[in-house]
Amino acid sequence: MSDVLVRALKDTIRDVPDFPQKGIVFKDITPVLASPRLLHDIVTWSAGQFAGEPVDEVVGVESRGFIFGAAVATQLHAGFVPARKPGKLPWDTVSVSYDLEYGSATLELHKDAIRPRDRVVIVDDVLATGGTAAAAVDLVRRLGGEVVACCFVVELGFLGGRDKLDVPVRSLLVY
Ligand code: AMP
Repeated sequence: MSDVLVRALKDTIRDVPDFPQKGIVFKDITPVLASPRLLHDIVTWSAGQFAGEPVDEVVGVESRGFIFGAAVATQLHAGFVPARKPGKLPWDTVSVSYDLEYGSATLELHKDAIRPRDRVVIVDDVLATGGTAAAAVDLVRRLGGEVVACCFVVELGFLGGRDKLDVPVRSLLVY
């Protein structure tokens, strides 16, 4: 399935130059979300990476990681945990700040979202420089969780984000 799926994804993902800032080619996945078949097949492929492995929670990274992460969680019979930008989660949080290509960012989890030794899969739409995913890994570990893998729809391989992650990385489509 995955060769045909990868080709269909390449044909459907929209490249938007200079968004959100000059020099960035933004991978717009909204046409993929609008396709019943592609949305279904991405979720099936992602969940299939962990078939037979116990997974307690899927952490989805704000905001497009919520869309795929929640769907993958239902397939894995796991819970869903949102990793959010600062100030969005209403209860006690753990927080990690990290560098972006330009500037910095912060990601948070609720303190009770992961229990010690929980097995966690982290999901996002795009792996770029890897700072965001590395921060999500750090947050899960601070709560005592074990990161099974990070799973992406698209990996921008030329940015080397995978090298920032000391966990298995699964990407459906690598540029
Ligand atoms: P990273 O550089 O890996 O920390 O990526 C930061 C966040 O921005 C991730 O959640 C990605 O989904 C998103 N992102 C980074 N670069 C792109 C891009 N070229 N197109 C779409 N999303 C991107």
